[in-house]
Amino acid sequence: MWTKLQNTPRKKIPRTIAVIDPDTCFGIACSICQAACPVEDCIVEEQDADGRWVCAVLIDKCIGCGLCVTVGNPTAPGKRDFGCPADYDAIDMVAYTEVVEVMEAQLDAEELAEAEPVTTF
Ligand code: SF4
Ligand code: SF4
Repeated sequence: MWTKLQNTPRKKIPRTIAVIDPDTCFGIACSICQAACPVEDCIVEEQDADGRWVCAVLIDKCIGCGLCVTVGNPTAPGKRDFGCPADYDAIDMVAYTEVVEVMEAQLDAEELAEAEPVTTF
């Protein structure tokens, strides 16, 4: 566990937030993004569809600073000393509204899949 600067709820919703692509993330043996992130418990570890442990950003914690993003990746808003290794470049900053739309669509699809089939006879 690294020391974090922020462990209180964020004050406003950021314009963009970090999104990690599990397919290009090296896995939790790397975890450089967790070291770079100033927010406590913002980047967590979870299993991808293949059961591989990768890093993921919590949408309600990210403050949009971009410090976890690979140096040279143009989606990050500011300067940083290090971030996700260039070999992986697994993190992009994405518009918050776009991320919410995608997550809501995923939740709707999951609810539909779990719903009882409707019969008419
Ligand atoms: S953008 Fe900043 S707050 Fe969000 S996950 Fe990356 S380092 Fe953490
Ligand atoms: S820094 Fe990049 S490759 Fe490393 S764990 Fe984080 S997202 Fe994955």
